[in-house]
Amino acid sequence: MACVTYSYDAPVSQTLFDRAAVVTPGGVNSPVRAFRAVGGTPRFMVSGTGPYLTDADGREYVDLVCSWGPMILGHGHPAVIEAVQAAVARGTSFGTPGEGEVALAEEIVARVGPVEQVRLVSSGTEATMSAIRLARGFTGRAKVIKFAGCYHGHVDALLAAAGSGVATFGLPDTPGVTGAQAGDTIVLPYNDLDAVRHAFARYPGEIACVITEASPGNMGVVPPLPGFNAGLKSLCEESGALYISDEVMTGFRVSKSGWYGIDGVEPDLMTFGKVMGGGFPAAAFGGRGDVMAHLAPFGPVYQAGTLSGNPVATAAGLAQLRLLDDAAYERVDAVSAEVRALVTDALTKEGVTHRLQTAGNMFSVFFTDDEVTDYDTAKAQQAYRFSPFFHAMLAQGVYLPPSAFESWFVSTAHDTAAIERIAAALPTAARAAAEASA
Ligand SMILES: *Cc1c(COP(=O)(O)O)cnc(C)c1O
Repeated sequence: MACVTYSYDAPVSQTLFDRAAVVTPGGVNSPVRAFRAVGGTPRFMVSGTGPYLTDADGREYVDLVCSWGPMILGHGHPAVIEAVQAAVARGTSFGTPGEGEVALAEEIVARVGPVEQVRLVSSGTEATMSAIRLARGFTGRAKVIKFAGCYHGHVDALLAAAGSGVATFGLPDTPGVTGAQAGDTIVLPYNDLDAVRHAFARYPGEIACVITEASPGNMGVVPPLPGFNAGLKSLCEESGALYISDEVMTGFRVSKSGWYGIDGVEPDLMTFGKVMGGGFPAAAFGGRGDVMAHLAPFGPVYQAGTLSGNPVATAAGLAQLRLLDDAAYERVDAVSAEVRALVTDALTKEGVTHRLQTAGNMFSVFFTDDEVTDYDTAKAQQAYRFSPFFHAMLAQGVYLPPSAFESWFVSTAHDTAAIERIAAALPTAARAAAEASA
C-alpha cells in the first residue's frame, strides 16, 4: 500500500478556535469538544449530510459521534428538516401550550411502558435535576445514590463521582459545588449490588432514590451485569426509594423504547434527551403517574421552563421518533455490528490488546483484555493508545469521539460508502495504536 499522507493541520478551524478562546472559556461551550484528551485542533464543523460532517477547512469526515447520539437518522434527514421548516414558519416560541408537545409526550408514553406521564424540558441535565427533585419531594427523603462513572449532566448534586468506597459520601468533583449540595449524594461503584445493599442498610429511611444510567455510556460503554438493574429496582422497592433510570443516551437509541426495551426492568422515573430532540434542545422526564402528580401546578414540587416544549424542538423530535420504526433500529444495529467487526479485525491484526463493549448499537473500544464493569476497570485501560488511534482516523476522514471514555454512535445513514471509508482508515490507525507508548 502506498504511504498514507496525514493532514493534521486544520488552519481555518485553528483560526476559529483562537478567536473562540478569546470570548469563550477554553474556546468551547462543552468541555469535551476542546480535544483536551487527544490534543490537536478541534474541528469546527460547518455542515452535515447523512453520515458525513464537513469542517471549516472543507474536509469531510464519516461521523461516528452523531452529535453524541441524537443524529440517529444521520444529518439533515429530509423529513426532519421539512418538519422543522414547517414549524419555524408558524413561529418559534409562544410560551403557551401547543399541540406538538402533546404529540411528542404521547409518542414517548406509547413507546415506553413505565412512563404514564412525561414533562418536557430543554436538556438532559434539566431532566435528571428535575427527576431528583421530584424523587426527594415525593419521598420526603434527602439522600441520592449514584454510581461512579455514570454521568447525569452537570447537576450540582450529581457531579460527585469521586471515591469508590462503599457508601462514600460524595466529595464534590468540581469547585463551585458545595459540600451541602453534594453531601447527600452517595457514590457507589457501578455493578456492585452489595455496595447498594450496604448503603440502604446504613441509611434506613433516608434514601430518596437511586439514579443510574440505564446502560452506562459515559465511561465508555459498560453495560449492567445480568440482574444489576433488577436488583436496584427491588432494593429501591423494599426501602421505599425511587428507581430512576437515566435514558438520556440510550432512550430511543438502542431500541424503540430504549434500554427498557432490552432489559424490561420498570423504573419509577426515567429521563430522556438526545435522540428525542432530533438535534434540538428537547429532553424529558417521566414515569409513574402518582409520582408525576406531585409536580406543579397539580402538586407541590416546582419545575418549569420558558422554552420547555418549544414548538420547533418538539417538531424535530416527533418527526425523528416517527421515522424510528423496527426497520430503522435493525439498520442501526447492523451498521454498528459491521463497524465493530472492522475495528476488532484491524486491532487484532496489529496485535493491539483491546475489547469492544456494546450496549445495543452503542459501543466503545477499551484498550485492555479485561472485562470493564465499572469506572475503576475502565480507567485501567491503556488509554494512551487512544490519541494516536483517534488522530490517524481523523486524518483519514473519520470523526471519532475525542476521548477513550465515550461511546461511538452510528446512524441509519451510514451506508456502504461510509463504512468503506472507515475500513480504509482503520489499518493505519490500528498501527498507530500498536506503536503508541505510555
Ligand atoms: C448527555 C447525558 C446527560 C446530559 O444531557 P445534556 O442534554 O447534555 O444536559 C444526562 N445523562 C446521560 C446519561 C447523558 O448521556
